[in-house]
Amino acid sequence: MSSASESIDVGGWRITALVDGSMRLDGGAMWGVVPKPMWEKLTPPDADNAIAIAIRPFLAERGDVKVLVECGLGDRWDEKWKRIYRIETKPSLVDSLASVGVAPEAITHVVATHCHWDHFGAAVARRGDELVPRFPRARYFAPRIEIENARRPDHVRRASYRPEDVEPLLAAGVLEAYDGDVELLPGLHAHVLGGHSDGVAVITLGDEATSDCAVFWSDVVPTTHHAQPAYIMAFDIDVARSFRVRSEWLARAAERGWLGLFYHDTERAFAKLVRDGKRYTASA
Ligand SMILES: [Zn+2]
Repeated sequence: MSSASESIDVGGWRITALVDGSMRLDGGAMWGVVPKPMWEKLTPPDADNAIAIAIRPFLAERGDVKVLVECGLGDRWDEKWKRIYRIETKPSLVDSLASVGVAPEAITHVVATHCHWDHFGAAVARRGDELVPRFPRARYFAPRIEIENARRPDHVRRASYRPEDVEPLLAAGVLEAYDGDVELLPGLHAHVLGGHSDGVAVITLGDEATSDCAVFWSDVVPTTHHAQPAYIMAFDIDVARSFRVRSEWLARAAERGWLGLFYHDTERAFAKLVRDGKRYTASA
């Protein structure tokens, strides 16, 4: 796995790959309709068909601004859930930040792409009997439809969201909803795409018109191995939409030479996707 303190300068930001534990998910679910003989070479499964899944938030720094791009799965898991998903909570996000000399109090903004528990579970922390924002000085941002889903997940979405991941932030008045295409901070844009979830977004850092730009793919492209438009996870709620937005954004990122940031890839935190006809390959 990539070292927790790998950093790259791009688009006026210093971007550092962090870690927040790890988990395992069923290989079939991670690969959807892709046949096992194709995916098992890329992501070798265990005897129970589970594959290793990285949980990799990124720190983006520019002067005094310290942005956490995605927060991780956190530590509020019971034994049953840990066993099912083989969740490891160490090294935690706070450990990972400490290894690069950043305290939770120093985080100024947290930008989330969606509110699935493996991406947003670390947003809040338990303090005694209470749940409080884990980053006490930060403003949090998440797509509006994702906040709504997390508060009131319907039958289909119940397994992916937990109301207690967002309610403490709303109670503290620190969670801001965003929609569409928006510049959340100078040089940091969010684009709500949907497909994987109703409101999943990608985040860009830098100048989108040039190659001096990074794109945080979130679960739109969860690993470098998922870089073909049709390699869509079984978790995706709207497969046709996923195919459309993935095709569009993969082409854009490759054309402009953006650096990709990968949340769930166990080997690569950073990679450019290079297009060869209809196929994409990851380059260093
Ligand atoms: Zn995920």
